[in-house]
Amino acid sequence: MGCTAEGLATALRAAAGVVAEHRAELIELDRAIGDADHGENLHRGFTAILAALDAGTPATPGAVAKLAATTLISKVGGAAGPLYGTAFLRAATKIGDAGELDVPLLVEALKAALEGVQARGKAVEGDATMVDALLPAVAAAEAAADGGADPAAVLTAAADAADKGAESTVDLVARKGRASYLGERAVGHLDPGARSTALLLRAFAEAAR
Ligand code: ADP
Ligand code: MG
Repeated sequence: MGCTAEGLATALRAAAGVVAEHRAELIELDRAIGDADHGENLHRGFTAILAALDAGTPATPGAVAKLAATTLISKVGGAAGPLYGTAFLRAATKIGDAGELDVPLLVEALKAALEGVQARGKAVEGDATMVDALLPAVAAAEAAADGGADPAAVLTAAADAADKGAESTVDLVARKGRASYLGERAVGHLDPGARSTALLLRAFAEAAR
């Protein structure tokens, strides 16, 4: 049992709802160590994804992921738009024209998303970015898949690891993005992009149930 185009569209709609609910929180996180636009950026992007899906859901999960990618890249400025856009684009390429996302392909898509973020942003683990949420999430997804988990359990493992990884950014000195301009002063703050990555993965996990 895998995730169809309709399933991925449902997950993206759920993610849009979560982004709307957490818009103010993400703005406040970014106000502390950036320029207070992360919540607004993501909200604009996911509102546009909703509109694109309303206009017609593409036939395959890969095409749905590609629609999300192109929408984020065209509608969201700043660092996060191109980074999340690249993540969805790499995932879309990995999914190709498969009719369903089964567990192995889901894990491959998550790996491709991480590789895209790292290729684009050059952040490694410990730089206090979304990579600190996404990298352990991908590792946890792989481990869950190896243990025979279904898609919902794979995504739940990823979301749990992303929560922990995001939390780890509180103690880190940011080395990428705007927060890196603050040096030691960024310590004590949760990275907004790591938080949004954890929120998105949780939304996908809940939608997969
Ligand atoms: P901007 O920083 O341009 O205002 P956003 O506020 O939307 O863009 O996004 C900020 C988030 O983007 C950060 O919290 C961080 O997680 C992520 N980020 C910034 N630069 C990088 C990078 N080089 N690699 C990975 N993630 C990054
Ligand atoms: Mg910002």
